[in-house]
Amino acid sequence: MHYQRSRLTGTTKSLKKSDRVRFLESTKITHSCIEWTGNLNAFGYGRFGYESVRVMAHRYSYELFVGPIPNGNVIHNMCKNRKCVNPSHLASVIQAENLAEAQHTKEVYKESVVSAVFAASFYAATLPELVR
Ligand SMILES: [Zn+2]
Repeated sequence: MHYQRSRLTGTTKSLKKSDRVRFLESTKITHSCIEWTGNLNAFGYGRFGYESVRVMAHRYSYELFVGPIPNGNVIHNMCKNRKCVNPSHLASVIQAENLAEAQHTKEVYKESVVSAVFAASFYAATLPELVR
């Protein structure tokens, strides 16, 4: 189980459990998205306080569940829901590709809805008390 979680998050060593718990406690599962319920910035993206700095919640989620974001990359919300931190709705793309990527969003998103079911079940297994 621990191995499985490490493989899925890729960042277990650098994250304290309390940060993971705090992060997930500021989210709720909707029909396919995992929405941020904490502070939002002026653009409607979630903010998460981590090690005395504020980070973008969707970027934090990507690093928590998927892995490190390469330098210069932006995290694209394929579902177009800025509050969404569902890792299966997030794609790491270089800035110049972000607009082009948006044009392919609909096709990619159809596939990602399937993996959203997996993400929700992984999320539920990680913190079952959050599923109400
Ligand atoms: Zn979403």
